[in-house]
Amino acid sequence: MKLPSRSKSYMIPEYSLTGDLLSFLTCNLQYRYQNKGTLPPSKPVQRWFGEFIHGVLEEAYLEWDLNNKQFPWDWKTDIRPIEDMIDIRLQVDGLYPYDEDLFYSLLNSDLTADELNEHDHKKLASARAEKAINIWGPHLFPLIDSTEILIKGIRNMPNYEKNVSRSNYYGINGVVDVLSSIKINDNLNQSNLDNYNNKIIEFLKKDPEFRKRIANYSDGDEYEIIIDYKGMKRPPLKSINKFNNPWENHRQQILTYTWLRRQQEDSKPIFAGIIFYLNELVPSKEDLLLIQEEIANDLTDDAIDYSKFANDIELIMNWSEDDKAPELSEEFKIARSIRIINIDKEEINDSLDRFDSVVFNIESSLIKEIKGCKIQEAWKAESDERTCSACDFKTFCKNNSVKNKDIKIP
Ligand code: SF4
Repeated sequence: MKLPSRSKSYMIPEYSLTGDLLSFLTCNLQYRYQNKGTLPPSKPVQRWFGEFIHGVLEEAYLEWDLNNKQFPWDWKTDIRPIEDMIDIRLQVDGLYPYDEDLFYSLLNSDLTADELNEHDHKKLASARAEKAINIWGPHLFPLIDSTEILIKGIRNMPNYEKNVSRSNYYGINGVVDVLSSIKINDNLNQSNLDNYNNKIIEFLKKDPEFRKRIANYSDGDEYEIIIDYKGMKRPPLKSINKFNNPWENHRQQILTYTWLRRQQEDSKPIFAGIIFYLNELVPSKEDLLLIQEEIANDLTDDAIDYSKFANDIELIMNWSEDDKAPELSEEFKIARSIRIINIDKEEINDSLDRFDSVVFNIESSLIKEIKGCKIQEAWKAESDERTCSACDFKTFCKNNSVKNKDIKIP
């Protein structure tokens, strides 16, 4: 009797919006080495801080929800224990901050390097966590309906070819926080009573597209807003980097999240997405240099009316990198740290097509490699100078312009 052979294992490749899409768009080859290879990045700064701030905000929200602790929270007694817990969790996953700049907030302190020690000052990441909790917490936490929702979906594999493609489907996943209209409306009523202004609602009400959506909305209908936090500064509208446009990528990310959330049974219509760019609350020297460059070259987006912030702009433009950080107004930092993204049905389809095409490119490179092509032949090595200068793989990267250029790290 002939025994039937076991059928080939069926595997659907899974792609995450941040870990795969954004990372691949930054540099294909770096993504391959970091995410699909056995070499972990030795300096996952962006990733560490992004994960850290996400974790701290989630835990802070749970703590607030449980104990209704009043703001402002004290850094040493209320926030530091949360940071420690998240840091240990990240260490278990092999994630560590790497750079002294990430640790010591000299730029924002009157201390000198010699005076600093581990116990009596805040690290830059901590300073940002404290501001994120104390500036945004009182406005954000009362509106949150659900945190850390895992959203998943399945799509047809783009350009599927039998016996060539790895699968006829691929999966997309992401994790989001959700604000609900019920909480927003409760807060709105409460704000009328207490004369307490919720800044998130103020920003939403000022947004012309969101106002239009609300105008067509009848009282009984519920809606949702998707939230994401970024451990980075607000990106410019027009990217300096011709290979990657984070402003546009983040919009696509929210649109794709919307599609994924809509697949879930308990979801309501999604009216908008909000991204918080948390570095803006305590910008680093590198962030300030970039903001200066973007203002000078008119690369900023038009969601912020910069004419209202003439004093802040002057402080930034007159700041030099040997100075202490300019004392920017809290209103300026708040305005730069929040971005509202409106949801348009047509645009959701465009963003999904774009995701398909990125997955197609990743899969094509993977298949080339599986067929024996060398890694550096299978994956494109192209990125901007800033990414290349911090890249672990630049010494053996085939992109010669990286090695031959004297890269200036600000
Ligand atoms: S050095 Fe630049 S081009 Fe080469 S892998 Fe790194 S980021 Fe990509």
